[in-house]
Amino acid sequence: MLAVDKINLLNLNRVGLERFFVGCGEKPFRAKQLMQWVHQRGVTDFAQMTDMSKSLRDSLSDQACIEFPRLVDTRKSADGTRKWLLDVDGVENAIECVLIPEKSRTTLCISSQVGCTLNCSFCSTAKQGFNRNLTTAEIIAQLHLAHHGLLAEGQQQGITNVVMMGMGEPLLNFDAVMTAVDMMCDDFAYALSKRRVTISTAGVVPAMEKLVDNTDVSLAVSLHAPNDALRDELVPLNRKYPIRELIKACHSYVDGYKSRKITFEYVMLKGVNDSLEHARELNKLIQGIPCKLNLIPFNPYPQAKYKCSDEKSIDRFRKYLADRGIITVTRRARGDDIDAACGQLAGQFKDRSRRSQEYQLGLGEIGGMIHAH
Ligand code: SAH
Repeated sequence: MLAVDKINLLNLNRVGLERFFVGCGEKPFRAKQLMQWVHQRGVTDFAQMTDMSKSLRDSLSDQACIEFPRLVDTRKSADGTRKWLLDVDGVENAIECVLIPEKSRTTLCISSQVGCTLNCSFCSTAKQGFNRNLTTAEIIAQLHLAHHGLLAEGQQQGITNVVMMGMGEPLLNFDAVMTAVDMMCDDFAYALSKRRVTISTAGVVPAMEKLVDNTDVSLAVSLHAPNDALRDELVPLNRKYPIRELIKACHSYVDGYKSRKITFEYVMLKGVNDSLEHARELNKLIQGIPCKLNLIPFNPYPQAKYKCSDEKSIDRFRKYLADRGIITVTRRARGDDIDAACGQLAGQFKDRSRRSQEYQLGLGEIGGMIHAH
């Protein structure tokens, strides 16, 4: 049952939980105990938290809850990629998160908003419009679900990496995302190293500046075009924060921090941004920034007005930059047999009646965002 007047402890990081327990007349260390139960052992029933007194457990049940979005559907691809569809507003909205297993790591691609405001011209999430920000609880629930799902299947390690590359712009939901990141990295929760948590942004410059001193997470920047004229068209946010400001913010993030590096993302759109001239411009732009460049072959979806660049152009582009010392990798699409290839995270919305009907029939085509990192 949804407990409207109870506080959902899934929204609180360690500092928040300490404050909560102190407010209840308890010692702050209860926060660590609770985090271990919920996030490490996957126990969400207060009654089972046996290192807390019966009276504390009872009072927790009275005032608090641990509330997850409902799991609507899961899909598994032949290559091991999986995705989960989660209900975040009754039956009205759903979001997706995607799991990408690789030899040495297991990456979870997480959503930060229901829909997106940015309206990038090649992105299918943009076509869904924007509904709302996710809460910290809804963000961390994606990790909880995937991680404990894997452990329950007998896997030793669970999730090792998180990328905020699902639906939405994480830096436009700054506080909720940063609180969730705290929990991902907390030793009493998922204990992921900051380097293994990546925030991907289309270039919200003021929020990038806030990140500089706040955290050490890995930063990915969706560049997609090497000049303002083209980027204005592909990533309309560029009209607000043009390339010069964006590149300056990238410098601020890495300069003076030896181990920091930016990952630039560049979607390969046939005849749009994939010429050698674009590669030349791009090289000039990012030379001197400690970085890695990911070329993402465009993944088409119904109504997309772009095509993916052909292999030859992608390779020519990659080689031009690699020859000039930029670490450049072409990403491999994963999970395409469950429509989970990169860049199509669509979820499900109330107003998309065709899709929701398909879902009820179990035939639903859902997009997913997969990156082979
Ligand atoms: N808003 C954030 C995170 C979500 S998008 C951002 O812009 O970075 C994650 C990445 O997938 C971005 O680089 C985005 O541009 C890319 N992407 C979106 N649609 C795509 C598509 N159809 N094919 C390939 N990549 C896509």
